[in-house]
Amino acid sequence: VKANIMVSLSGGLDSACLLGVLANTPAFSPISKSCLAVNFYYGSKHNLYERRCAQQLSEHYGVTLREIDLDFMRDLKSTLLKGGGEIPEGHYEAETMRQTVVPGRNLVFLSIMSAIAESEGIRTIYIGAHSGDHHIYPDCRPEFFAAANGAINRSTVGMVQVMAPMILAKKKDIVLAGIKAKVPFAITRTCYTDDPVACGRCGSCQERLEAFALNNANDPIEYESRILMPK
Ligand SMILES: [Zn+2]
Repeated sequence: VKANIMVSLSGGLDSACLLGVLANTPAFSPISKSCLAVNFYYGSKHNLYERRCAQQLSEHYGVTLREIDLDFMRDLKSTLLKGGGEIPEGHYEAETMRQTVVPGRNLVFLSIMSAIAESEGIRTIYIGAHSGDHHIYPDCRPEFFAAANGAINRSTVGMVQVMAPMILAKKKDIVLAGIKAKVPFAITRTCYTDDPVACGRCGSCQERLEAFALNNANDPIEYESRILMPK
């Protein structure tokens, strides 16, 4: 049976919750037959851990994972990448978190996924991006996805569309959706650092810790620190 949806699976929290929700959607049941997952290696400090999680999540849900390596991206300028500087600590809204923007990331990812989707006859690409409570990443904004969807729709003569169903959701709502969908949070990677254990101090860790706290839920992953910093 051919897959009829594609999901961008980074191995992070958002894409894991998205896959969990899709797996519980009757139209896509069983998810193992309907979904092709795609994971990108683009040279971020946490990419290795993310990819391992994407592999484990794919195994958990029984979906095929297509792993794509984008060597050129590791030379782009961003502290998120291995060649960049230190990952800033503190809350996501801090100006310093802008250093973690990776130029063109979602545009590159969507272009590649669109090409694969068109080739494989897959009509819908799901991506777990969310603008949430911060607007640091220009390629995570609703207007970006509207434009990207338009471009992909034209490029594929109406065949492929992009769905970003969590684009307006807050992180705490994404976690709640994941809890309801019984997402295996233990095999998700959020921390931006290259440390195998989540630091708990970078913007990404802080946002995740806060989202679980707001749901009165326990985050099963290990942290060096679980202390929430003031905004
Ligand atoms: Zn961290």
